Amino acid sequence: MDHLGGLRAALGENASLISDPEITASYSKDQAPFAPHEPAALVLLAKSTEEVSKAVAYAHAHNIPVVARGAGSGLSGGANATSTSLVISLEKMNSIIEIDETNMIARVEAGVINLDLDKAAELKGLAYLPDPASRDWSTIGGNAATNAGGMCCVKYGVTSAHVRALTVVMADGQIVNLGSATKKAVTTLDLTRLMIGSEGTLGIITELIVGLAVRPDTPATIIATFPHIKSAAAAAAALLKFKPSMLEIIDQTTLKAVEAWHPLGFEIAGSVLLMQLDEDQDRADEVLTLCQSFEMIDGAASTEAADAVEFIRVRKLAYPALERLGATLLDDVAVPISKIAELVERVEALSTKYDLTIGIFGHAGDGNMHPTIVHDHGDLKAQERAIAAFGEIVEIAQSLGGTASGEHGIGSIKQGFAANELSPAVIELQRAIKKAFDPKGILNPGKKLP
Ligand SMILES: Cc1cc2nc3c(=O)[nH]c(=O)nc-3n(C[C@H](O)[C@H](O)[C@H](O)COP(=O)(O)OP(=O)(O)OC[C@H]3O[C@@H](n4cnc5c(N)ncnc54)[C@H](O)[C@@H]3O)c2cc1C
Repeated sequence: MDHLGGLRAALGENASLISDPEITASYSKDQAPFAPHEPAALVLLAKSTEEVSKAVAYAHAHNIPVVARGAGSGLSGGANATSTSLVISLEKMNSIIEIDETNMIARVEAGVINLDLDKAAELKGLAYLPDPASRDWSTIGGNAATNAGGMCCVKYGVTSAHVRALTVVMADGQIVNLGSATKKAVTTLDLTRLMIGSEGTLGIITELIVGLAVRPDTPATIIATFPHIKSAAAAAAALLKFKPSMLEIIDQTTLKAVEAWHPLGFEIAGSVLLMQLDEDQDRADEVLTLCQSFEMIDGAASTEAADAVEFIRVRKLAYPALERLGATLLDDVAVPISKIAELVERVEALSTKYDLTIGIFGHAGDGNMHPTIVHDHGDLKAQERAIAAFGEIVEIAQSLGGTASGEHGIGSIKQGFAANELSPAVIELQRAIKKAFDPKGILNPGKKLP
């Protein structure tokens, strides 16, 4: 059957449908290297919830796999397509429908870029807080579908803490509203939270109501260097009592990569901690005093915006500095913060075992670490070792009481590992939930679930 013709008949002549494989290819993968993907059969640049509904109803009737897509900034192959897929891109559904100052909420279409919402909120003295590093191009719908985190989440929580309600197109094309615009809502089972982080496997989010916050004050930014990661990680755990709005850690391998590119004066540091306080800024000196009791080599604090940029520079350069050394595989695991140092030590041992550079940086305040494996471009043997190391890092995190992904999601690259964390009964429950939402299994098949 000619699905292009069928969908055109269902959606009308004005529907933005693409079937040219050279163009569909660019809508058929995210940023994850090595995740399988093929140019999708068709791409719909959706313009409304109703259009998504009609397209999904058509796909349901004809058993066509449907892949929802935000900006494609994902790092787990979650938005990757197969050659029979219909990709539904939400990028054109990018209106901020309303910012309600009184109730401190925003109603947005799923394709709104995270930073655009925050900028619009700022005009009213408010903020949309979840701050993935990709916030200048990832979408609010994609952020909700992956339950994205970021630096300020140590204090303010990840995306799920900020989403109040969703409009969702279900697997058969029905449109449902989940959740409530109110800050508190415990009336029924929380299907909103079930949908958040479901990576396009339970429904397609087309509209969201999110909570906004009073814009935080200019923070105090603190930088401290330590002789080794153990003392830095121990200091990070002790620093949580200051309620940091950012608490990041960088290991020596990453610091060396930064120094080799942009010397910033971290030659002798074994680790760096970066912290922000967006309240009690005057406690920055207390923070540095506490760091001294954890062998701090050197430290500085400032409330000047220019200094903050300078201090945070080393964190911003962390990933690009490693990328300069070769092809990279960016992992994402979370461990209890008491286990960060052990994770780093065990990853360092892996680096020797596999003869690969592995730099580690991440969110010390919540134990969400990003071990980044570097291998030579085009060296297929090194690439194989990198993929093996990637998996072993996940297993190390799990053995430390952690989890396979802290924020990037499971997508198509980590399902095998997800099962390690679940008992057979819970796996069954997960499959039963998927079946209840999507009995034909058309929504992002082969992703997320073990
Ligand atoms: C440089 C860089 C930095 C990053 N930093 C962070 C970070 O700090 N924190 C973090 O959490 N992530 C980070 N990421 C990963 C990525 O940006 C996030 O996962 C982001 O939330 C994905 O949003 P997106 O709009 O690009 O979604 P996509 O990549 O398009 O899709 C992601 C998943 O969500 C599904 N999906 C997308 N939109 C919808 C929808 N409307 N309804 C249902 N399902 C949908 C897709 O099918 C897919 O499974 C980073 C990525 C890059 C490249």
